[in-house]
Amino acid sequence: MIGTGYVGLVAGTCFAETGNDVICMDVNEEKITQLQKGRVPIFEPGLEELIRRNVAEERLSFTTDLPWAVQSSLIVFIAVGTPSSEDGSSDLSYVMEVARSIAGAMDGYRVIVTKSTVPIGTAQKIRGEISSLTRFQYDVVSNPEFLKEGAAIEDFMKPARVVIGADEVRVAEIMKELYAPFMRTGAPLLVMDTRSAEMTKYAANAMLATRISFMNEIANLCDHVGANVNMVRQGIGTDRRIGTPFLFPGLGYGGSCFPKDIKSLIQVASENDYPLKLIKAVEEVNELQKHVLINKIIRFYSSELAGDLEQLKNSVNTETGHPMTAADESAGTPEGDYSYGFSLDGKKLPDMAFKSSNQELPSYRTPKFRESGGGHSPVAGKIFSIWGLAFKPQTDDIREAPSLTIIDQLLKLGATIQVYDPEAMEETRKIFGNKIRYGKNNYESLKDADALILVTEWNEFRNPNFNKMKRLLKYPVVFDGRNQYSRKEMRELGFLYFSMGRP
Ligand code: NAD
Repeated sequence: MIGTGYVGLVAGTCFAETGNDVICMDVNEEKITQLQKGRVPIFEPGLEELIRRNVAEERLSFTTDLPWAVQSSLIVFIAVGTPSSEDGSSDLSYVMEVARSIAGAMDGYRVIVTKSTVPIGTAQKIRGEISSLTRFQYDVVSNPEFLKEGAAIEDFMKPARVVIGADEVRVAEIMKELYAPFMRTGAPLLVMDTRSAEMTKYAANAMLATRISFMNEIANLCDHVGANVNMVRQGIGTDRRIGTPFLFPGLGYGGSCFPKDIKSLIQVASENDYPLKLIKAVEEVNELQKHVLINKIIRFYSSELAGDLEQLKNSVNTETGHPMTAADESAGTPEGDYSYGFSLDGKKLPDMAFKSSNQELPSYRTPKFRESGGGHSPVAGKIFSIWGLAFKPQTDDIREAPSLTIIDQLLKLGATIQVYDPEAMEETRKIFGNKIRYGKNNYESLKDADALILVTEWNEFRNPNFNKMKRLLKYPVVFDGRNQYSRKEMRELGFLYFSMGRP
């Protein structure tokens, strides 16, 4: 396995778990030294235990010696990164460099498999490159990976399907044998040509990203028209043609795959003179979505309601948590019913506190905002607590995470940021250093904060101690980017609560 990152380490470990001898190779010496000492460089549930077992049983080893790894193996996977180049296309330099090194090290027939996500035509390109560098026989296979970070072991051990792009029958048989232990649940192993296999990976990610952007747009429209996206989601997800997964609105997709794969697909299409209109829109919506919550925050602090916060705090009955001045919300309002925003003294929240526009850039970036008071920022001097930094729960991966945009923008607007994430604190520290504060736990990050911003829906944030939260926060204000809490409950507890698509 050449490249011992997220995919290489998980795939290599799972292949070892099914009885194969696996060598995981990487150029990163520090990473390999750590792994040789039994330390796992990434957080992935169940991975550490699996690595330990397979190392102990001598099926899994780690090295920086590529020629040795290649000469000891029949099948050589390329699992290195394929980041975005400046123009959005995939940077194939790592993949091609590895392909050349494999060719130089070969001492007989090898199966060379691209596990990395690579643009359509890459297998052919590798074949061409290697042919000039070796006299030995080889086959090139495309075997895209569909695992999800956070559930990677489960996904790899019990895949929904395995895609093998092989232009020769002999090599398809070798790959079928390798994957046989993973197919016992009856999931299909689909053999196709290499181009179709490469395209399948992009099409899958584009489809999932489309669902996310679609639902985010519907949620934004719900904010405008007074519908509840939770109800809408259930109303459509129960249709078997639509299905329930990937219909939760949020802050836009992030991570190491969707953003770069969508960009790469758009670039491939443009190189082939086919403008992918839908996918371009998916990306555009996603970029805007990262700013929707910041926009709500800015609009709230620009509204007269923000001036009433002292009153809100004092108006909460500490016994029941009920705000005593809430005039228009009956406590019995069911979660699913349309109800307008929280009110103080019978004053409705101004429309602008909820509305976001996808037709224009978020308001705080418009010239109008900048002109107002020479760039006066309504959040300057405010302290925000952020729960969740990873791009999704169960991972420490913060690549392209919405949290980064939110922190960055709020810092620029003069706010102070206090963060907590169960796993991604170290990664975040590498980016923001001491520009932000790091809580020992989620409650510590709330201390004296003007508001909580919930960014990543970790399980441990689902059922927090709300009374403790209220005691720690300066004001009981929550901006929930993941719709984690019941609006009714939050209201009853005396929070001023903003969520996505649930006005
Ligand atoms: P990663 O950055 O975690 O790991 C890549 C590894 O390759 C690094 O450890 C790096 O040191 C190593 N590397 C770079 N150049 C090398 C070389 N010349 N020789 C040996 N090792 C080298 O990346 P990742 O998340 O594992 O992704 C790898 C590929 O898999 C990408 O194409 C990605 O799109 C794809 N993919 C990722 C996921 C995911 O969830 N992370 C899922 C499916 C597919």
